[in-house]
Amino acid sequence: MKLILLGPPGAGKGTQAERLVKKHGIVQLSTGDMLRAAVKAATPVGLKAKEVMDRGELVSDDIMVKIIEDRTGEPDCANGYILDGFPRTIAQAEALEALMARHGTALDAVIELRVDDEILAERIETRARETGGARADDNVETLRKRLEVYHGQTAPLVSFYSERGMLKSVDGMQSIDEVAAEIDALLQESATA
Ligand code: ADP
Repeated sequence: MKLILLGPPGAGKGTQAERLVKKHGIVQLSTGDMLRAAVKAATPVGLKAKEVMDRGELVSDDIMVKIIEDRTGEPDCANGYILDGFPRTIAQAEALEALMARHGTALDAVIELRVDDEILAERIETRARETGGARADDNVETLRKRLEVYHGQTAPLVSFYSERGMLKSVDGMQSIDEVAAEIDALLQESATA
């Protein structure tokens, strides 16, 4: 199974991805985690990405597409994966589509977690307080910037995937368990459709 989890920062993608990993025996590919690991290891990509990430802006499409192309080609991805944090732009989505077509594979579904901006602002402030700056980009100002970038560059993916009949939207303001149950039901539907 190959899935995309789409949604603004603070929507709960990581939480749901973790659960889907256990349930379906697939791997979670979080581009945010990959980039943070690259920053920590001071690789060439990490050195380039650090300041962009700290500002809450997006790392270039070229770099991201290359990372995903390499990672999805590894053996542990053969059984499927969940993309969490990728694609984030139309260009990335188009590159992914081309890449998958080249490999004779396709996405099963794109799951959108919908959360209102006011709720996100609250979650974002709580998260910034609780993590106490554990992540350099987890302060209120950068998180607001990330939300703005989401609306400008990533939200257009909702129509992109909706036009392709792949989009499944879930109300992300319910409890974690309720969101999980709704995702499971939608995936069941698409498996039997
Ligand atoms: P979030 O907490 O919003 O889910 P992530 O952990 O996914 O954030 O990503 C953190 C940062 O890493 C982003 O703000 C961005 O700078 C960079 N990043 C992650 N994935 C991508 C991507 N697909 N394209 C461009 N930049 C990315």
